Amino acid sequence: MNVLSTRNLHKNYGRITAVNQLKLEVPEGTVFGLLGPNGSGKTTTLGMILGVTTPTSGDFLWFGEAASHKQRKQVGSILEKPNFYPHFSAYKNLTLACKIKEVSTDRIDEVLEQVGLAERKDDSFQTFSLGMKQRLAIGSALLAHPKVLILDEPTNGLDPEGIAEIRELIIDIAATGKTIILASHLLDEVQKVCTDFAVLRKGNLLHTGKVDTEFSDEAIIEVKAEDSAKLLELVTKFPAYLSHENIKDGYALRCEPDTDAASLNRFLAESELYANHIMPVKKTLEQQFLDILNQNHA
Ligand code: ATP
Repeated sequence: MNVLSTRNLHKNYGRITAVNQLKLEVPEGTVFGLLGPNGSGKTTTLGMILGVTTPTSGDFLWFGEAASHKQRKQVGSILEKPNFYPHFSAYKNLTLACKIKEVSTDRIDEVLEQVGLAERKDDSFQTFSLGMKQRLAIGSALLAHPKVLILDEPTNGLDPEGIAEIRELIIDIAATGKTIILASHLLDEVQKVCTDFAVLRKGNLLHTGKVDTEFSDEAIIEVKAEDSAKLLELVTKFPAYLSHENIKDGYALRCEPDTDAASLNRFLAESELYANHIMPVKKTLEQQFLDILNQNHA
C-alpha cells in the first residue's frame, strides 16, 4: 500500500517551475529519500504534501485518500521548526507542544527516551547543542504518534557526531514501523538512511529506485585470463577482494567501494599474470548519481 501518491503535483512561482508534474509513490514502511541539489524542489514538494504550500495544479493522496484533517494528524513533520522556548526545559517545551497539537502528555517521557534526551529533560532548551535541538524537534513531531514522519534536511548544520546521532535516530524510528520521507541534498545521507529514493532536479523527477539495489557502493570488476586457476588464486589475495562469482572464462569480483580496475590490473601484473579482459561493471556511487543527474538535461 502506498502511504503517499502525488498526481502531477505542480508548483510555479511566477515564471519559475519549482516542481514539475511530479508523480511519486511512497510505499508504506519505507524510508523514502527525496534527493536533489539545492533548488531542486524538495522543500516545495514537502510543503505541498503537508498542506502549507498550495499546488498550482495536480493533487496527492495520503493513505489512498484526499488530504483531510484526519490524514494530516497521521503525518508528523519538522518542516516548520517548532517554537521552543529557550528558558523552558525539554519536558516543558514538549508539554506545550502537546497542548498545541491537542494530544495527551502521556507519551512525553517515552518520546524523550526515544530521541535520547531523557537524561536532559529538565535542562533548558538554550543549553542544548544543535543536534539535541534537532532531536527534540523530532521528538515533538512524534508526540502525536504519526504513521509518517517528514524531515527536511535533518542533519543540516550539525557536526559529524550530531549527524551520526540523527541518522541513527531516523533508522530507529523507521524500525518502529513508521514511514519516513526525508529530503536531502546529500547522496551519502540517502544511501546510509533510506530504503527508497527519488532524484529531483530543477523540479523534475529524474529517477526512483531502491537504495540497496541501485546504490550499493561496492565495485564489481570482471576479470579473465588464460590461466584461470592462477587468476583465481591471485584475485583472492587482492587487498580489495570481497568475494567472486564464476563467469565464462573468468570471474566477477566484488571489491571494496571505489576499487578501480587499473589497481587490480597492476596487482595481477606484479605477479606476472596478464589479464586479457578486465572491466568494471558497476560504477562508484558518486558516478551512479552523476549519471542519473546527467541522464536528463531538462
Ligand atoms: P533547498 O535545499 O535549497 O531548499 P530545494 O530542493 O528544497 O532546495 P525549493 O526550496 O523547493 O528547493 O526551491 C525550488 C525552486 O523554487 C527554487 O528555484 C527556488 O528559488 C524557488 N522557490 C522556492 N520557494 C519560493 C518562493 N516562496 N518564492 C519564489 N520562488 C521560490
